[in-house]
Amino acid sequence: MPEYLVERASAKRPNIGGPPPDLCQDLKILVVDDSPVYRKLVQQSLAHEPYQVLFAKNGREALDLFGQNQPALVITDWTMPDLSGLELCELIRRDFSRSYSYLILLTSNTNKEQVIEGLAAGADDYLTKPFHPGELVARVGVGRRLIELHRQVEAKNRQLEEMALTDPLTGLHNRRAIDLWVNSQLSAAARHDFSIWVAIADLDRFKNVNDTYGHDAGDTVLKSFSEVLKASTRKSNMCGRLGGEEFLMVLTHVEREQVGIAIERVRQRFEKEEFKFGDGVSRVTASFGVAGFRGPCPPDFTTLLARADSALYSAKHKGRNRVEFDEERIQRSSPTHARIERQDSQPKRISGIL
Ligand SMILES: [Mg+2]
Repeated sequence: MPEYLVERASAKRPNIGGPPPDLCQDLKILVVDDSPVYRKLVQQSLAHEPYQVLFAKNGREALDLFGQNQPALVITDWTMPDLSGLELCELIRRDFSRSYSYLILLTSNTNKEQVIEGLAAGADDYLTKPFHPGELVARVGVGRRLIELHRQVEAKNRQLEEMALTDPLTGLHNRRAIDLWVNSQLSAAARHDFSIWVAIADLDRFKNVNDTYGHDAGDTVLKSFSEVLKASTRKSNMCGRLGGEEFLMVLTHVEREQVGIAIERVRQRFEKEEFKFGDGVSRVTASFGVAGFRGPCPPDFTTLLARADSALYSAKHKGRNRVEFDEERIQRSSPTHARIERQDSQPKRISGIL
């Protein structure tokens, strides 16, 4: 039998008072010991526990297995021919700091100084050899509870992070997510010389929908527009909701003509949407203002947004339900031009357009 054979311990015994089986399914324990006798003893102690147990006979093998499997718990011998248990703990903490594993040291030494050294190296707990099988199971249980708690906190954090970047009504990126993404893209566009376009979309006479049919009807329209946006946005681009009835599309690596086609497609798709409000069928349209950049000195996002906003303003004044580009500035900015542009432009949003 290979020394590091992956072994699923039998879970036939009723799991009374233990963790729910589905929580344990992924819980892997790595056992590291150069002594076949001790590996066997640990294996027997955990035989009836619902964990997946892996075995390594030295520190190097343990590091390889750890990298491949990211076990939740490690039970490691202290004295081994290549790496000591202490060094193994240090390396795991140093090289795998992104996820937390619970480390238990097995030592025949009861010297307190050594125990302190082990805990300082990154171990969470220790057991002295020869160990009591019940105590090993109990200490593994403590580790399991901590790891599960840790995973729950991580999942909650991910969820909160996601929520902080998502518009709750439409599920689109919110203003904060848009800012983060566009700012990183602007630097990349300047560095790698690709184009970046921002298009503000504003639903036409949206206030009328809310005033006539109520806010639920308004929300339906907003969600419908978001669906059209999502369906029309390539993975490498992004779309989001700026707030109210204003949305943003960001397109990269494309020329003006393709941008015009892509946004025109969104405009046409949305104007065909039918809404059953009251007794009849309503349609809503959207106007779009687009501004682009390519060159070595990127404008800041508010400047680009203000340019798109002024194009949107002219789309509204030319009759709405249309796409207008900001044509005033040259597309490929020189360093001088960009400098002048930054000094001159006062990024101010045009408000009150319906
Ligand atoms: Mg040993």
